[in-house]
Amino acid sequence: MNMARRFIVEGNPEGRFTIAEKEARHIFVLRHKVGDVIQVNNKLCEIIAMQKDEVICDVVGEAEIRGVPDTKITLFQALLKADKMEFVIQKAVELGVTSVVPFVSKNVVVKLEGKDKAKKSERWNKISVEASKQCGRSDIVPVSEILSFEEMLTTFQEYDLVLFAYENEKESLKEVLQGRGKGKRIAVVIGAEGGFDATEAERVMKAGENVKSVSLGDRILRAETASLFLLSVLMYECEE
Ligand code: SAM
Repeated sequence: MNMARRFIVEGNPEGRFTIAEKEARHIFVLRHKVGDVIQVNNKLCEIIAMQKDEVICDVVGEAEIRGVPDTKITLFQALLKADKMEFVIQKAVELGVTSVVPFVSKNVVVKLEGKDKAKKSERWNKISVEASKQCGRSDIVPVSEILSFEEMLTTFQEYDLVLFAYENEKESLKEVLQGRGKGKRIAVVIGAEGGFDATEAERVMKAGENVKSVSLGDRILRAETASLFLLSVLMYECEE
């Protein structure tokens, strides 16, 4: 059996299933043939039949879990302007996050309504899937629908630790991470280009005992730098 690259389809492949369109063409272009075993999402699948735009496979096993850290980190990222948001999502996937949750805060300049929201969400999830394929992860990192500030606050109870990167905070990340067990489910909250206003910061810090506001140093980082920095430190601290 010729083991090969990983392909991504919507949903969870089971039994006999068909891969169509772009992924099917990709398999064809890579000169796979009937009998090859390829990885589709996190399943090992044997090609049963194929033509240019359609590949029929049978699930023959589970693929090994690769590139998925034990510590489950969720990045809550306030909406950023187009390319920055896409950059943050791509890098967050490479840095091992488990999920990305875009949210709206007072200082967010990007206004998305109705079908624009759905289109953005679809594009962000495509970027996430491509990033997952590129870095060889065996899982998919979902980018959730855009949450309001209120909705975001209600989700914090699901985490062992919520690290709120607040530009006006004095307590350093190092102190916070040394001071307390990190736990297995960590949320990271990063503001938009305009940051958080004082009332928002107060509401975040009151959202639960597990919420800690942290300084990322005495320089003001761009939002995309702040995300990368905090996720990198957490991966360094938490990943074996
Ligand atoms: N409007 C803010 C200002 O000028 O003071 C800047 C916001 S910064 C561009 C975007 C986000 O990155 C912040 O809301 C925060 O989440 C994070 N951030 C940037 N620098 C930080 C720092 N030194 N400490 C903590 N968080 C920081």
